[in-house]
Amino acid sequence: MPAIEFICLNCGNCCRNLIGNEGTAGLILFPDEVALFQKRNIKPCAATGKSLTHGSFKIITYQLTENVCPHLKDNSCTIYQERPLSCKGYPFVLSGDSRQPSLLTDLECTFIKELKGRYLSRSIHDFAHCESIEARTVFLEKLRDYYMLEGRKIKRWIYNLKTEKWERYLYERHF
Ligand code: SF4
Ligand code: SF4
Repeated sequence: MPAIEFICLNCGNCCRNLIGNEGTAGLILFPDEVALFQKRNIKPCAATGKSLTHGSFKIITYQLTENVCPHLKDNSCTIYQERPLSCKGYPFVLSGDSRQPSLLTDLECTFIKELKGRYLSRSIHDFAHCESIEARTVFLEKLRDYYMLEGRKIKRWIYNLKTEKWERYLYERHF
């Protein structure tokens, strides 16, 4: 089977449905991407540390609290060249598996949905290499240390947007 070329349909759906995981998580931003958005629309996301109050506590990523991105206009991104790595990597996402995260396609993407009837696999190996895969690979590398902390003394924390509280990161989750 020839490799599938990912073609963005510019439907803007992925920029309108940013709150996932049942309302607990928004678009992930690395610290150097936070300035792309208004401060009031940003909350922390992932952190590491022995405890919430210990000096080792460190925020690794932030998240956008808006479901519809403020940079979306007429289904186009107004900051396209500078858009966050999360956006560049879409519709490829991390499996969230604790020790060995891998890349999958997101079934919520309109293009992937249209393929679904023909291709059952969510593996990225069915896809021709593209900028989105490259961006998600960089994204994964930036988070690899966070994943590898599993089982060590330093704990992983995740900020729940719904409860507005930090929780231990102990379960599978898609980034
Ligand atoms: S949902 Fe998929 S097809 Fe639509 S804009 Fe996003 S990446 Fe492109
Ligand atoms: S920054 Fe651009 S690509 Fe990312 S969610 Fe907003 S409008 Fe979409």
